[in-house]
Amino acid sequence: MTPVKTPRGTRAAADTPENLLAYALAMESEAAERYAELADQMAVHNNQEVAALFRKLGEIEYLHAENIRRQAAGHELPRISLGGYRWGSRESPEALDPGEVHYLITPHQAVRLALRHEQQAAEFYGTIARGSGNREVQALAKGYEEEEREHVRLLTEWLERYPVTGRDWDDDPDPPMEQE
Ligand code: ZN
Repeated sequence: MTPVKTPRGTRAAADTPENLLAYALAMESEAAERYAELADQMAVHNNQEVAALFRKLGEIEYLHAENIRRQAAGHELPRISLGGYRWGSRESPEALDPGEVHYLITPHQAVRLALRHEQQAAEFYGTIARGSGNREVQALAKGYEEEEREHVRLLTEWLERYPVTGRDWDDDPDPPMEQE
């Protein structure tokens, strides 16, 4: 499995509980939306099995975002513009890059890809939990990390459920007219 890099953005998010809540909310909402978009795309390409997988993951992330939203009630969250998050890349560590998702992606490949992003998310929160000097930040981040580790466990189970991808996985007898 590809080694997990420590995501950037952890320093900005680790300052105060409000910052962490804002980062976590952004990250989980983005992950939920991305999985839902990918599910739609896969459905368009009639890749129903992967569409269902992404749909399920989107629901899981949506619930996580809702939990964070509840925790954030009563906190004045900083307003951070979409480009203002310091992820160290264009996107948050948990969101899949649609460019990585071929329309014929197999369930095994899709789960592997999601697994990598869930590991990055766990690493993001774990780094904050271990590195922050603020007790409340540590406690929140630890809870989020555990949640992401749970997603990693779930996906590891799913990985075993689906056969490893064969070499001809992207053969399409009837390719779409325009791809991308
Ligand atoms: Zn997750």
